Amino acid sequence: MYKPLRSLKSGHWFKLICGASFQHLPAVRNLTLAYTLAGADCIDVAADSAVIAAAQEALQVADNLMVNHRGLNDHGLPWLMVSLNDGQDPHFRKAEFNSVECPVDCPRPCEKICPAQAIVFDRDAEFSGVVQERCYGCGRCLPICPQQLIYTRSYVSTPGVIAPLVISTGVDAVEIHTQVGRLAEFERLWKAIVPWVDQLKLVAISCPDGDGMIDYLWSLYNLIAPLNCALIWQTDGRPMSGDIGDGTTLATVKLSQKVLAAGLPGYVQLAGGTNSYTVTKLRSTGLLKHQGQASSLSTISGIAYGSYARVLLSPILDQLEKIEMKPSLMSVRLEENPELLWQAVALADSLVSQIKLLPED
Ligand code: SF4
Ligand code: SF4
Repeated sequence: MYKPLRSLKSGHWFKLICGASFQHLPAVRNLTLAYTLAGADCIDVAADSAVIAAAQEALQVADNLMVNHRGLNDHGLPWLMVSLNDGQDPHFRKAEFNSVECPVDCPRPCEKICPAQAIVFDRDAEFSGVVQERCYGCGRCLPICPQQLIYTRSYVSTPGVIAPLVISTGVDAVEIHTQVGRLAEFERLWKAIVPWVDQLKLVAISCPDGDGMIDYLWSLYNLIAPLNCALIWQTDGRPMSGDIGDGTTLATVKLSQKVLAAGLPGYVQLAGGTNSYTVTKLRSTGLLKHQGQASSLSTISGIAYGSYARVLLSPILDQLEKIEMKPSLMSVRLEENPELLWQAVALADSLVSQIKLLPED
């Protein structure tokens, strides 16, 4: 049995969310490498061929390291997932503004609040504004601008591009972001995936809470069943907020209880606001598999971490970027700096091990 599938079944599944619209290739590559070596089961990236290639390169490096590095556990490789959307969704947008319109005396709160260092002001005027590859659409910069100069641009997956993307890149899994009331849009997207679904090991459906959510999820299930691969219901509690504070995890824990109670076929996995407090909260709520429940229907299968996982490693990746900027070291990669690599893996492990080290049932 695939190791990621084993993790799902035993309730120890860990997914890294690089970001459905995060296209900063060095960061995607290095996050993938560190979290793979720490034992992640799935790496979720933007449906963009350059991003997929960067993640696949990191998986190859991790595979070589696991084979050749004595003392390193061979966790096996995680599944590679791409995220798609059937309509407007905050995960699939980018912030923009025209820096020429900014007052010269603005203290630039936008720059300070951005968790992805996507907002830059270049004194040499090479570029000032939002670095599009880095922005993952969290929206925190929008209300903070006193001039209300910042806006977002959304984009929707085009069904026609999905099939070739899935076939030609060999991804293992697809995640569809949807919202209550979008059955027709979901169906359109699903029809484009169906011809290739046999090549997938996993389909995930991510949906935030809303009136009629459970009925909506059942309609989706009836549309996609029967499915020959694993199915995950991702409970997207408070999207892209896990790095803000402990309490952001409460919404996804509550939502996971609601989805578990519905008894939908498939696995339930948390996301949206997950952080280092999530496992503690799940334990106190009795939602972890080893806690003696009679039925696995009442327990979650795993957790996905996005902004919290990225921010956790940002001190290391920032250091690496500074090294890269020195003219003589243009292409330093994380694995070429063993000290930073193992620091990154240790940090990643501090998060991955929270769900991995639960006793087996
Ligand atoms: S704060 Fe969020 S939405 Fe704004 S630029 Fe940064 S990542 Fe993008
Ligand atoms: S907060 Fe608004 S006005 Fe100030 S620098 Fe940022 S975008 Fe410009």
